[in-house]
Formats: sequence, C-alpha cells, structure tokens
Amino acid sequence: MTDARPPAMFIADALGLDFLNSAAMPQDTPVEWLGSGDDLLAWLRQAKLVPAQVLDEARAGAGPGELDAVAAQARALREWFRGFVREHRGRPLDAQAVAQLEPLNRLLARDEGFGQVGAAPSDGDGVAAGLQWMRLRRWRSPDALLQPIAEAMAELLTGADFSQVKACEGPACTLLFLDTTRGHKRRWCNMAVCGNRAKQAAHRERLAQRP
Ligand SMILES: [Zn+2]
Repeated sequence: MTDARPPAMFIADALGLDFLNSAAMPQDTPVEWLGSGDDLLAWLRQAKLVPAQVLDEARAGAGPGELDAVAAQARALREWFRGFVREHRGRPLDAQAVAQLEPLNRLLARDEGFGQVGAAPSDGDGVAAGLQWMRLRRWRSPDALLQPIAEAMAELLTGADFSQVKACEGPACTLLFLDTTRGHKRRWCNMAVCGNRAKQAAHRERLAQRP
C-alpha cells in the first residue's frame, strides 16, 4: 500500500496535543492521520500509547468496519477536544472548565484498568531491581483503544500549564504544542519547517523594502 502522507507528527511535547495534530496542514495541504481503522492503529503504534501486541490482536480480531468506527469516534473526540483547547489555551485552566469536560469523563469512566505487582526491569548489571507497581488495562472491545488517548488528554488537562499551550506561528500552520522550553520562547512546530519559512519570508520582505 502506498501512502503519500508524511509520517504523523509528534512535535507537541504532550500526547494530548499530538492527538489534535493528527489532523493538520503541515505543507499547505490538509492531512488526516486517523482516516480509517488502520490509520488509528498506526498512529497509536507511533505514539506508543498501546502495546504492539494489543494492536495486532485488535486488527486480527475486529469485524468488518469495526475499527473504522472506532477511528470515527477518535476523530469526533479529537474535534470536540480541539474546540476546548482553542477556547482555553493561553491561560491557566480554572475549575469551572470541568463543566465542559463531561464527554471526556464519560469516556474515562469506561476504563477497565487494573493494577499488578510485577518484576522491575533489572538495572543493566543483571541485578534484580525488585518489584514495581504496574497499571494495566483490559482490552475487551476495540473502542478500548480510545482509553489511552483519553488518558493523554486528561494528563494534558491536569499536568500541563495551559498558558503554555500554543499554536505554531506559521501563517498556514495548524499545529499545536506545549511550550516546555525555559523562558517559554518556542514559536514554531518545527524550526526546520515553519521557523525557516518565516525567516525566509522576513528575508524576502527586507529585500523587497530595499530602495
Ligand atoms: Zn508550524
């Protein structure tokens, strides 16, 4: 299968925002990375949100159209969340925002997470590192694939400073990111793409203004 799309982008420094960037206009053309069930599996794999084995089993076990329907749910969730982020970004979230988050909380309430005590990975010298607490999840139905996305959104809402959620300043760019730089000076999704374009545009402008 040929895919003319560029690879999905993970430039946001927050998976909840990378999820929003799964529909974007990186090079003047709109790109949808969650257009089908296969797309959704590929995106979740790249995002490392779901273990590869679970994704393989989801593909093998899904009925016709079942994963496409989950991808449609993911897109609807994404566009709902985009509206929320657009409205609230640029300043800290306040407690009243919770009233708007019911769709997310409804989804989170469906989670079938559970805890386990497991062996911690050894530290390279082959010395056993003891035990660790692990959060796992049952994947009973394909729409459970939305749960880690919902968690990434919840993490963004509760762990990130919403005043640092920014939109790339590239004039045609739609990408969002969390500015985690010191001094909060980040302006571009990607310096190599939008940053350079802006530099070139400024350079052209300077040349044009020369007498
Ligand atoms: Zn950009």
